Amino acid sequence: MIELRDYQHDGIGRLFASIRGGNKRVILQASTGAGKTRLAARIIEMAVAKQKRVLFCVHRKELVNQTSQTLDAFEIDHGIIMASNPRKNDHAVQIASIQTLTRRDKPNADLVIIDECHLSCSMSYKAIVEHYADAAFIGLTATPVRSDGKGLGEVYSDIVSVVPMTQLISEGHLVKPRVFAPFTPDLKKVRISKGDYDTDDVAKLMDRKEITADIVRHWLTSAPDRKTIVFASSVQHSKNIVAEFIENGISAKHLDANSPAAERDQTLQEWRDGQFTVLSNMGLFIEGLDIPAASCVILARPTKSLTIYLQAVGRIMRPHESKTDCVILDCAGLTYEHGFVDDVREWTLNGKIKKPKDAPAVHICEECFAAYSKAEHPNECPECGFVTYVEPKVMESANVEMVELTPSLIADLRAKRIKWLEFGRCKTLDDFKELGRLRGYKQGWAYIKYNDRVKWLQANGFAVQS
Ligand SMILES: [Zn+2]
Repeated sequence: MIELRDYQHDGIGRLFASIRGGNKRVILQASTGAGKTRLAARIIEMAVAKQKRVLFCVHRKELVNQTSQTLDAFEIDHGIIMASNPRKNDHAVQIASIQTLTRRDKPNADLVIIDECHLSCSMSYKAIVEHYADAAFIGLTATPVRSDGKGLGEVYSDIVSVVPMTQLISEGHLVKPRVFAPFTPDLKKVRISKGDYDTDDVAKLMDRKEITADIVRHWLTSAPDRKTIVFASSVQHSKNIVAEFIENGISAKHLDANSPAAERDQTLQEWRDGQFTVLSNMGLFIEGLDIPAASCVILARPTKSLTIYLQAVGRIMRPHESKTDCVILDCAGLTYEHGFVDDVREWTLNGKIKKPKDAPAVHICEECFAAYSKAEHPNECPECGFVTYVEPKVMESANVEMVELTPSLIADLRAKRIKWLEFGRCKTLDDFKELGRLRGYKQGWAYIKYNDRVKWLQANGFAVQS
């Protein structure tokens, strides 16, 4: 029997309770790190034990092989329904590519599992739903909303969420993200098409030399040398970001949907092997890429799609021996648009995502641009200890003037990061004096900084340590 974590066990229990309660088609919402594959394998195992026939549908051919390997690993016998497949098709469990399935005789099934079910309102999926009118359906997804923002209520009648992301982080199945939002694009004039920001408008807005330079500058201060993935606004934007990194002595490569498969595989292998640091892409790695050593994501593509945002960030949250946290460098306003990645979201069948009443507001630190929840850190910035707050800056008013990155400036930026950390530890006047002494500042500096801190604490109703 497949071993499950406690919350996985509980999630499956709630799923079957919903089905027993009369819901024939239920979404099992499992975020990155929740162990979707293992959950699916366990569900199949349970169904087979009850002599049920199971059909597992995936939307891309590559995923058929991937799923098949997983079921092999869990020792679940299965057939494959895909063009030119070698497997025998009399097994109780079948994995099917949806394209092939719509054209072929359909196997009997008591349970149909739809992978990535947020994609499942297309015509081909509707035909499957109609064909298996008597079967139970389980839809698997991290984000039960369609790309146009609508819900999945046409097909499904209930959503069971397996586990909140905060719990996955606290139990160590994901690492905690630290968010920096150095600037937020002004998207007021960007047109909307098909439910998202117009790709041409967004590319025009984002692909500017001063922004690209700023991205590299902030990477150097907030995430230097981390294995980094960039989500760019256009192919050219992605290439320009790569050029900017390379110009500043940081190894980087670009991939997009037109990169030949061999080049894609080779580049990914080189990135895995640590031969270069920054991998920038346009439209490629929203799902599927699994390189746990990656620990920084640069969000440079504004989007209204919560799915794209969560999947992009999910690429860097898996634990790995080389990291204890991960860094989100949000240059696209996604934290403002969608909230923190680990906010608790209540999913609904109409696509509306209810934020709990106490959802944390996003605050940006004036000193280091950390984005954080004031509810969690009321006193000061968790990154640098800075004690005042500013409202979100739009790009036009933010500090995005051209900055030439010289080696000495880079060294300076790295040093500043360390200084912030030291500053953040100062609580009392003596702390500030000691820091000032170490840095060779005049005595007045400590008094000014300490008084700033006291004033802020008093203004915000906090006790002052002397
Ligand atoms: Zn800060």
